[in-house]
Amino acid sequence: MRATNEPTFRESVDLMFNRAAALMDLSPGLEEKIRVCNSTYTVRFGVKLRGKIQTFTGYRSVHSEHMEPVKGGIRYSLGVSQDEVEALAALMTYKCALVETPFGGSKGGLCIDPREYEEDELERITRRFAYELAKRDLIDPAQNVPAPDMGTGEREMAWIADQYARMNTTDINARACVTGKPPHAGGIQGRVEATGRGVQYALQEYFRHAEDVAEAGLSGTLDGKRVVVQGLGNVGYHAAKFLSEEDGAKIVGIIERDGALVDDDGLDVEAVSQWIRNHGGVKGYSAGAYVEDGASVLEIDCDILIPAALEGVINLSNVERIKAPLIIEAANGPVTAGADEVLRKKGTVIIPDMYANAGGVTVSYFEWVKNLSHIRFGRMQRRQEEARHMLIVQELERLSEHLGDAWSMTPSFKEKYLRGAGELELVRSGLDDTMRGAYQAMREVWRSRDDVTDLRTAAYIVAIDRVAASYRAKGL
Ligand code: GLU
Repeated sequence: MRATNEPTFRESVDLMFNRAAALMDLSPGLEEKIRVCNSTYTVRFGVKLRGKIQTFTGYRSVHSEHMEPVKGGIRYSLGVSQDEVEALAALMTYKCALVETPFGGSKGGLCIDPREYEEDELERITRRFAYELAKRDLIDPAQNVPAPDMGTGEREMAWIADQYARMNTTDINARACVTGKPPHAGGIQGRVEATGRGVQYALQEYFRHAEDVAEAGLSGTLDGKRVVVQGLGNVGYHAAKFLSEEDGAKIVGIIERDGALVDDDGLDVEAVSQWIRNHGGVKGYSAGAYVEDGASVLEIDCDILIPAALEGVINLSNVERIKAPLIIEAANGPVTAGADEVLRKKGTVIIPDMYANAGGVTVSYFEWVKNLSHIRFGRMQRRQEEARHMLIVQELERLSEHLGDAWSMTPSFKEKYLRGAGELELVRSGLDDTMRGAYQAMREVWRSRDDVTDLRTAAYIVAIDRVAASYRAKGL
């Protein structure tokens, strides 16, 4: 439970922003222009279900239009509120700037518990919500491009894309109105796993820098590291699965809605996930110890804590008991501003949300580009565009020389590119490149400035600087 004396989620994001902005030299007024949310649209619509009209409340918030379209997911949850979508939209602005996807920030939400509805009911609700947003240009390939978030996925995105296409029959770019679609409906391979994959790549990059690892009092590689993950939804599941199956990390704790599982020998993520799908929770699973008070498992001794569920789960009421020396924020805003301050003083390293979970929007960008280009990603293009490819390769080589060993992905990306790799391989490779580049930009600020002592502030500085440059260029 978040302590009652804590700021709201949006205020918390603003406080973190202010901390970084105070260390920057922004012109008067520009700081405020970047911080504030441009607009939030609230819609209440009715859908006739089970013989009676039910009214739903939804939002789409646009935080910054310094680049368009604006981008960000649509969340289905009973916790959705104006404050929440505004905080999440702001985080989208900074996230996109940090990983250099050319979008402004937006977020949407619908106050609904999707588990209470049948599939055909959800389809009608989603189509109606999409209609309400699209008719106000809040879904549009050039202006506002939603994506999945908590409680939504490929299925909802396919409905939204189809609804938009019906309303805009002559728009050849209609498919680019939303990302996270299934591959057979204009999506891209690797989007579902992208956010979890990005968390893995972020940790891999962090562990390439021994000096940074030592800041958390850790050493070595990911192999054998004891990990606690909160939330085995799309993001937590993929992050835990890849880290345990590919990097040798041990998942010693999994926290879910109905409790947690703890096992020093490491839990089998795939088996636990299967169990949750069949039984609705972790209770009764055959391995590990079941702990009814799931939140208490956030506090157990481990090397890496991955909050991958809701915002505000590490707050003033439990922060003093958090033992993990390294926290990677797979969720948006899992650490409140107050808790962040306590952890910073304690020396806990936090890999911040705007970087850690940027894998989703990064691959969304690939999908959007693919939709707009109307050509396949990978393989086919190779022969047709050999000359352009060679130019890209030369540019990558130039970057390699400039960045040295830290850019060691480039030779393999180049090799894949020239080989004419398939879509999934290119998506993963491009995501890895992006996560590496963004970490290095953040790290450069963290390491080179005495007044910047944490990665979150460094991330904000990089992001705000880029948004400011964009506003300045536009002549604001
Ligand atoms: N909902 C995801 C996020 O919070 C993805 C957004 C997108 O792909 O636009 O980053």
